[in-house]
Amino acid sequence: MTISSVDTFGTAVNCIDGRAQHPVSEWVRLHGNVKYVDVVTTPGADGILSQFKTDRARYTRDEVILSVRRHQSAIVAVAGHFDCLANPCKFEIRKDQIRAAAERVKNWDLGVRVVGLYVNEWGSVDVICDTDEDYPQIRSWL
Ligand SMILES: [Zn+2]
Repeated sequence: MTISSVDTFGTAVNCIDGRAQHPVSEWVRLHGNVKYVDVVTTPGADGILSQFKTDRARYTRDEVILSVRRHQSAIVAVAGHFDCLANPCKFEIRKDQIRAAAERVKNWDLGVRVVGLYVNEWGSVDVICDTDEDYPQIRSWL
């Protein structure tokens, strides 16, 4: 392994949608206090992980585990976003999917903080859930 002690990592599971990449990575860098963010992308990642019925879901899990184990990632974010082509659904359903996907990652017992994020129509991040804090309601980060 060739990472130095100053290279800290987080992991994001995100859709392939270009609009979702920057907000999620920046949120993880800032709030996870890490220098780099490994990104595992799959179309409609929130739906894929919450249902966990496909090979794609299993590949996603394997890639997250690789990132956490080899880069000692401290945080895993699972993200969904507004206007997702691969996983079109109403916000209330998406919110449940993001929560379920984050819960699934938590159950992998990686020993990391797990957050569920939503990139809203304004391109900012709403925190749906966070194992480090119990938010009484969704908080937005502009
Ligand atoms: Zn999408």
